[in-house]
Amino acid sequence: MSDIQEPFVALVADKSSDGEVTTKLSELKLADLPAGDVVVEVAYSSLNYKDALACGGHPGVVRSLPHVPGIDCAGTVAASNSDDWKVGDPVLVTGYGLGAEQWGGYSQYVRVPADWVVAMPEGLDARHAMTIGTAGFTAAQSVAAIVGSDIQPDRGPVVVTGATGGVGMWSVAILAKLGYEVTAVSGKPEQIPLLKKLGAAEVVGREAVNDTSDRPLLKSKWAAAVDTVGGTPLTTILRSTLHRGCVTACGLVAGADLPLTVHPFILRGVTLAGVDSAKCPRPMRLEMWKHLSTDWKVDLPEDCLTEITLSEVPNRVKEIMAGKVVGRTLVVPK
Ligand code: NDP
Repeated sequence: MSDIQEPFVALVADKSSDGEVTTKLSELKLADLPAGDVVVEVAYSSLNYKDALACGGHPGVVRSLPHVPGIDCAGTVAASNSDDWKVGDPVLVTGYGLGAEQWGGYSQYVRVPADWVVAMPEGLDARHAMTIGTAGFTAAQSVAAIVGSDIQPDRGPVVVTGATGGVGMWSVAILAKLGYEVTAVSGKPEQIPLLKKLGAAEVVGREAVNDTSDRPLLKSKWAAAVDTVGGTPLTTILRSTLHRGCVTACGLVAGADLPLTVHPFILRGVTLAGVDSAKCPRPMRLEMWKHLSTDWKVDLPEDCLTEITLSEVPNRVKEIMAGKVVGRTLVVPK
């Protein structure tokens, strides 16, 4: 066991006397953490939309209160009962139950099952890994679904919704790196220069994917899509995708409903590929991290990154819920 400093600091979500769920900095001891094989000293975590929900105690994310949010973390092994990990190993953990069913990365230490731990890929450090986090990992799976559908860059433009969000930005950046012509959809026109810097060929407003008519098919425009928002944008895109195109779906910030007919699927052979990061099987998980650290590796520009401490998380959560955040937020657990 390394020199673990107790007590240590964590951000704990709990119900206050008026029934509201709020977060506050608390001191914890190792004995407070859930059971597990490996203790990781956290260097960085990150703030995703799911973390924002967890900070408010959303029952769809958090199993019980009190709760430590943080679905991602990276750092070094501080203690291990597993033959696979030794003290000092640089590692990362994303998804599984971290920060959801189990206490997560907004803490100086986390304890997790050994098979949740991923060795830090060569070429990445803790900070870079958390600029990726679940957002970049979800983008990688989305890109993998498009590449796996044999859609080459010459098939036509690929549209990405929620483009200034974590998943959106990573999707734009990876697709552009792979040579795709990316149309970014964003509600933030002031971020057009940033999205172009990431590699978007074109940036359009959200109205471009907001067809509320009941027409089963629309004019074909896109060879593929990474949709991070769901709702009307996703139904619009599915009806506007070229023959044999592939549309990935991972999010619901614009709505969970999907009013649609089967026509895009049976007349145009469009594939709707669901993306689920938390329970991604380990072989694919390792394959995605390999891509993210080699042929799909991107250094996001610093103006896409914001670094905050635990006490700054609650304000940042408000900004996320108001749809105001741009890019990735790194959380330093202090
Ligand atoms: P962010 O909050 O970082 O980004 C979401 C983006 O969506 C915003 O930046 C904004 O981009 C756009 N947006 C916000 N509100 C609306 C709205 N009402 N209508 C249309 N667009 C909107 O979130 P993440 O990138 O972390 O996550 C995106 C989605 O993916 C979330 O729903 C999240 O839960 C989901 N997700 C799912 C995963 C899975 O495994 N299935 C894993 C990770 C994320 P802009 O202003 O540029 O339009």
